[in-house]
Amino acid sequence: MEISWHQNPLRTTVCLTEQEKELFRLQVIVAELEENIGTAAFHLDTTERNKTYFDPEEAFQYLGYAVEADVGDREYNLYLSELESGSHMGDCTCFPASCVKCHAESILGIDTIDGLGKHSAHKIYGSFSRDDATTIHDVIERLSDYEPVRSGAWLNMPEEAFNQHVPRWKAEAQRALTWLTSYRDRHFPLAAEPANPY
Ligand SMILES: [Zn+2]
Repeated sequence: MEISWHQNPLRTTVCLTEQEKELFRLQVIVAELEENIGTAAFHLDTTERNKTYFDPEEAFQYLGYAVEADVGDREYNLYLSELESGSHMGDCTCFPASCVKCHAESILGIDTIDGLGKHSAHKIYGSFSRDDATTIHDVIERLSDYEPVRSGAWLNMPEEAFNQHVPRWKAEAQRALTWLTSYRDRHFPLAAEPANPY
């Protein structure tokens, strides 16, 4: 497995050998089987806690998915493409959806944004989205100098409403800065100053 660390940590990619791809394909099938069989079991649960969801027809449908000949095929192709070229987007970056890339990485047993909280990831996402030429060094500089600007919909709301969020946003930017600086030092270290010969 070869991990290509990207300057934007949300876009780090993974390249698998043919043998690793086959193992990953089987891991995806196992995950799909667990998901479908687990959901079927949930709909057959008659205990007090889950009895309102009791629905044998629904359970039968999920068991049907589990025994389809191509179970996991679609997911394998989707997850592999996320590993090879996708970008983190979803719960991990504060967007209301599950992140396919996070899911693919968890099946593979890796986490390329380990320790990065969702609010920090959101700040990093925003800082890199301004233009394609943005480097990790630009983003570190922006985050070091982070000052929220009241604009857009905030202009229709009282200034105090905006101001009360400022300390939290600044703290989030500081956490993003700390994480990204450590990521840069690991994967994109700045060139050391040449030693003075005199
Ligand atoms: Zn993610």
